[in-house]
Amino acid sequence: MEKTEGQALKEKLFNTKKSGWESTNDNEKQEIFRFADEYMYYLNSSKTEKEIVSTSKEILLKNNFKDLKEVEKLQAGDKIFYVNKDRSIYVAIIGTEDIEKGLNIVASHGDSPRLDLKPNPLYEQDGVAYFKTHYYGGIRKYQWATIPLSLHGLFVKPNGEKVSVVIGEKDDEPTFLISDLPPHLSQIQNERKLSVGLKGEELNIMVGSIPYNEANLTEKIKLNILKILNEKYGIKEVDFTSSEIEFVPSFKARSLGFDESLIAAYGQDDKVCCYTALRGILNIENPKKTAICVLTDKEEIGFEGVTGMWSKVFDTFIVEIMDKLGVNRPNLLERVFSNSKVLSSDVDAGYDPGFPDAFDKKNASVLGGGVTIVKYTGARGKSGASESPAEFIAEVRKAFDDAGVQYQSSDMGRVDLGGGGTIAVCFSQRGMTVLDCGVPVLAMHSPYEITSKFDVYKAYKAYEAFYKI
Ligand code: MN
Ligand code: MN
Repeated sequence: MEKTEGQALKEKLFNTKKSGWESTNDNEKQEIFRFADEYMYYLNSSKTEKEIVSTSKEILLKNNFKDLKEVEKLQAGDKIFYVNKDRSIYVAIIGTEDIEKGLNIVASHGDSPRLDLKPNPLYEQDGVAYFKTHYYGGIRKYQWATIPLSLHGLFVKPNGEKVSVVIGEKDDEPTFLISDLPPHLSQIQNERKLSVGLKGEELNIMVGSIPYNEANLTEKIKLNILKILNEKYGIKEVDFTSSEIEFVPSFKARSLGFDESLIAAYGQDDKVCCYTALRGILNIENPKKTAICVLTDKEEIGFEGVTGMWSKVFDTFIVEIMDKLGVNRPNLLERVFSNSKVLSSDVDAGYDPGFPDAFDKKNASVLGGGVTIVKYTGARGKSGASESPAEFIAEVRKAFDDAGVQYQSSDMGRVDLGGGGTIAVCFSQRGMTVLDCGVPVLAMHSPYEITSKFDVYKAYKAYEAFYKI
């Protein structure tokens, strides 16, 4: 049947949201699913910021990228990376154009909310040994009890010896757990507000229960745990002073649903953008602008720290590139930055049909809607946002349109309900033009976050297109 005039006009003028799956043919669907499998494999071996760096470095080396520290001279087309203290990694492909004309940067973060140990974590109480934790990033504390937790840790001894420990990821290894009350005894706890359903000081992880076998000793279970740690890893209690012990959910990344269209996994904020930005740059050869992929650390606690995005180490990386290109001169860095363009590739809180009241449905990103453009973040009147100029968004739209990348545009949640910021501010402060652009996630910051395979794939294609602008 022929369309009526009104139907045709509507089709032409409306920005109607469509599920990307509807226009996906079998071939592309296969490609999307294959990409998702590779992404899930990456997630399973990259649960912490340090593992993101090591697995990403491995991928880069396999694809002929070189460590910048081992390169003396650079020229157009060269592929390099720079590891910042094992916790952040910056990747570059040198452009054919003068670097002064600016960089094309896609920047994501490899750290995710989790439970860190306090500096003096080990204690025993009434027959059980525990680790005390201090959570990292914004978590809903009640979600972290009664799920299997894995330990990903680093001890560094005063003599410089490093001991890396991972326990709980393999099926034959023990797990770790925070307990909770049974419903039979939770009448008083049930009266608490959800935000304190479990309190920070109740996030204590069970680590053992066998006492050291000797009469007339106190803290015998704690002693037995330290004995095990000492025998296996040469660790004493004081060594926790110089350690980083992270507990993360043991869950493996899985396809979700009968149709397997979704992905359930820990840490997709923002490892989904790490992987898609990284895979995107692997497809780039001889770009016009120097293409940069950033996998930074410490986003979830405010971008601070030497491995966070406020850190000047990123600037040092760019200066070293200019030195090795033989073009560096006073104030060149500022010029390069002021001509640079950035996609701050971070996840967005996608519309959750189970909780419609939290969203303005017309302005929320949806699962399967494609990569999402977020003009501004912030809260209460866009406060704290690095709002992106319309001119730049238009340029990004053109790149996405030309590459056939489906995109949507969104605003996080209902006005005045909450909000959040991204590392976009770290780039705009350096003089760069930035746009937030990433993947919608449901149950964000929970132990098991949800994305759509369609959006993950489109993010990969979007970032690939952006490097080529
Ligand atoms: Mn994030
Ligand atoms: Mn986050």
